[in-house]
Amino acid sequence: MPHPNDPALRSFIDVGAASDFPIQNLPYGVFSTSASPTPRVGVAIGNAVLDLAVLESEGLLDLAAAQGVFAQASINAFMALGPKVWSQTRARISELLRHDNPELRDDAPLRARALVPMADAELHLPIAVAGYTDFYSSKEHATNVGVMFRGKDNALQPNWLHMPIAYNGRASTVVVSGTKVRRPHGQLKPPGAEVPSFAPCKRLDFELEMGVVIGQPSRIGEMLTESRAEGMIFGFVLLNDWSARDIQQWEYVPLGPFQAKAFATSISPWVVTREALEPFRVRGPKQDPTPLPYLQQAQPNNYDLELDVGLRAAQMNEAVPICRTNFKYMYWSSVQQLIHHASSGCAMNVGDLLGSGTISGPGKHQRGSLLEISWNGTEPVELASGIVRTFLEDGDSLVMRGWRQASGYRIGFGEVEGTILPAV
Ligand code: MN
Repeated sequence: MPHPNDPALRSFIDVGAASDFPIQNLPYGVFSTSASPTPRVGVAIGNAVLDLAVLESEGLLDLAAAQGVFAQASINAFMALGPKVWSQTRARISELLRHDNPELRDDAPLRARALVPMADAELHLPIAVAGYTDFYSSKEHATNVGVMFRGKDNALQPNWLHMPIAYNGRASTVVVSGTKVRRPHGQLKPPGAEVPSFAPCKRLDFELEMGVVIGQPSRIGEMLTESRAEGMIFGFVLLNDWSARDIQQWEYVPLGPFQAKAFATSISPWVVTREALEPFRVRGPKQDPTPLPYLQQAQPNNYDLELDVGLRAAQMNEAVPICRTNFKYMYWSSVQQLIHHASSGCAMNVGDLLGSGTISGPGKHQRGSLLEISWNGTEPVELASGIVRTFLEDGDSLVMRGWRQASGYRIGFGEVEGTILPAV
């Protein structure tokens, strides 16, 4: 049987060359339809969703010991089955979708039940988020922010080159793409103000990130090796870590971000598996100084994925590109983040979400937040004639995309979108 990543594979379902979801991708999500409103697990293929709950109930997926695993409102139960089952299931779904396999192709009544047009599917949060941790692992981003707030000579804090820096965020406010985001209230103390006030955030920002979805648990006290950590990673999503910069600036000393990041974090609805991204692995930037032994990695653990961000004001028809960068620039890899996270003995859970940290690149057009793009509000961007932004305004819609073009097919993440609602 050919490997599910084989570039030569084709499906009997028509998949356009520019589609994010060819047979080589098969990302997992949770969906419902108006005709069948109970959320269940599916995979994206071209412009359709393949209903895995239907396939499983027909006995077409070999999950004897874990029946009903797809008739659920999250992929957590499936993830808990482990990497061997992830691979076998992906290979079986690939086989069922192949152009030369009649099982599903020639069974019209089954096809009618199992294939839902993407346009008819409502997409839900794909994971029950157990915990959410946000890292700060792009050297370019950390340097830009450091230069703005502490000057060129103290841009990186002394610990930054020695470990992946992070804070524990909120799982309760992780939302799926398309969910509107309410401008938060918070304590603000702008420069010059004598006392703080409680008011709507005035410096609302986005952060372009990737999210790592953890599919296997670790025990309290367990140290992770590189291969063990890698095997715990189920897949990746696009992640927008919405940020209230004015709230953040007043609250972050000494314990880091709190309410500035707690009001919403948006993720894309399709979880692209680590296995589908395997062809795009690359080495990250050279790490100097050499990390401590527990953080050293033998494998290339970065991924070459194109990322872009578009911004559309309410009165505009189309989003304007404001950032184009790549996931490969990350200084600390997801594997290193996970190893470090568990290194104190911290247990990891199925459904944990790790934000990569804002992904900026070396170029000016590669900055992954408005804080950097507008250089702390001093360099406004013109989106269209007369429409200028330093930070996000009410009605603005922010769209992030991620993909990688391979020979003959493209692996993509779809998008993560969010529109800003006015404060109440
Ligand atoms: Mn962040």
